[in-house]
Amino acid sequence: MGADAVDLLVIGGGMAGLSAAARVAAEGGSVVLVEKAERTGGSARFAGFVWSAPTVEELRRVNPDGEPELAAALIDGFAEGVEWIRSLGVECRPPVPVLGFGRGHQVDTNHYLDTCERLIRDRGQEVLTGTWTRTLLTEDGRVTGAECLLPDGSPRRIEAAWTLLATGGFQGDPRLRAEHLHPQAEHVGLRANPHSRGDGLALGRAAGGAFGKKDAGFYGHLMPAGVSLADPARFVDLALYYSEHALLFDTTGERFVDETVGDHLTTMALLERPGARGLLVADARVHREWISASYVEGIPGVDKFQLCHRAGARSAVADSLADFESMPEEWGFPGATIRDRIEEFNATVGAGGTTEPGRLLDSRPLDEPPFYVIETAPAVTFTFGGLLIDAGAHVVPAEGRGTIPGLLAAGADAGGLYRRAYAGGLAPALVFGLAAARTALTGTRPAALGR
Ligand SMILES: Cc1cc2nc3c(=O)[nH]c(=O)nc-3n(C[C@H](O)[C@H](O)[C@H](O)COP(=O)(O)OP(=O)(O)OC[C@H]3O[C@@H](n4cnc5c(N)ncnc54)[C@H](O)[C@@H]3O)c2cc1C
Repeated sequence: MGADAVDLLVIGGGMAGLSAAARVAAEGGSVVLVEKAERTGGSARFAGFVWSAPTVEELRRVNPDGEPELAAALIDGFAEGVEWIRSLGVECRPPVPVLGFGRGHQVDTNHYLDTCERLIRDRGQEVLTGTWTRTLLTEDGRVTGAECLLPDGSPRRIEAAWTLLATGGFQGDPRLRAEHLHPQAEHVGLRANPHSRGDGLALGRAAGGAFGKKDAGFYGHLMPAGVSLADPARFVDLALYYSEHALLFDTTGERFVDETVGDHLTTMALLERPGARGLLVADARVHREWISASYVEGIPGVDKFQLCHRAGARSAVADSLADFESMPEEWGFPGATIRDRIEEFNATVGAGGTTEPGRLLDSRPLDEPPFYVIETAPAVTFTFGGLLIDAGAHVVPAEGRGTIPGLLAAGADAGGLYRRAYAGGLAPALVFGLAAARTALTGTRPAALGR
């Protein structure tokens, strides 16, 4: 490794990568950021709330199978992360509740990402867009940078004391989705930037990194089945967050999940049902209180059902439960069975009884016509499984102990934090991105490089 090696090479310029690179640049370190797309920002450009659980205990309660060390690091680093965003002159609004248990700040993420990029360039450091990474460089068991391909196809060798993998997960690759999420995930919708296709995971595993956690699942939402998600504006507009207050049936006409635990968890459960599609049923009350209402404080509500209908979703408004019997055959759902199940549900909860599956948070009947019916399917936003890291964002090896010298991962490339549970995507990318920066600024730099 030559003396011109930078302190940090960042592969992937989204929330994690830009945070890490900007922090290193702000502290006077040297950094190169390599971004595959024409523009930096990744999925973070579509996101708006930096949030997580308020305490480690709460995070452990909703996410008991995640690594305790990472849970603690996320919560410990949250306030500093918010402080860092504010220090750049980016507005971080006062905290609001998120998903019932969480708290977070609405942030103009585009302002934040652009500010980070400007800061890196203003400090004389490089941001290379349209650049792909071919392989990591290694020397005596240490990762020492990467060989990249510039937009004109010419190779560029970038040497670095530390290399951060921050390519945003593997949700964009149907084969990896099928391998790590579920065989039916190969054909599900993508509700994210199209470039995060597991490149960081492949580079990290080739360097000996461990994959964690197995069967960790993904963060996603129910979307109207069969509707194109090519326009990113649809990622939020058409997401059926209100499923928490509706009833969801699979193609056999049965409920299979407690819908009230959260749309993102229901989405994972639906992926495993026949054909990975379901029928979501709401009534006039749910339409009034949830479908047209705001999902998170500060975001105006829109009538999602109308939007989905106009976008071509298979959907209908039924005047009564009796109408379910005449559900068109080509929909592939047994309308009469679903009608029976709704009537049974209403009778049971109306009498104060409990249903199977239960309803932890909203057990009111769905008995106010008309009924809003839509076919839905899971869509993936980002994957939870990735390169196992420690609290300093070091990648843990698949074999042996300790960490892989010179190699870091953050954001959705990092695994271990969540397993079949979710408490924010921006916050971990921010917190572990900043942890990676700290490691690069203070960690071991091979003697040959000096400082
Ligand atoms: C519609 C939507 C809404 C969301 N809302 C929220 C929210 O409100 N709150 C929240 O906490 N989370 C939210 N998220 C999730 C959040 O955006 C992600 O968790 C976060 O962006 C992850 O950060 P990251 O850096 O890992 O990935 P990203 O921000 O996606 O960045 C990854 C970057 O790596 C680049 N890349 C990929 N492969 C390579 C390669 N080989 N070489 C170089 N670069 C590469 C990509 O192009 C991309 O720029 C939302 C996501 C979406 C899609």
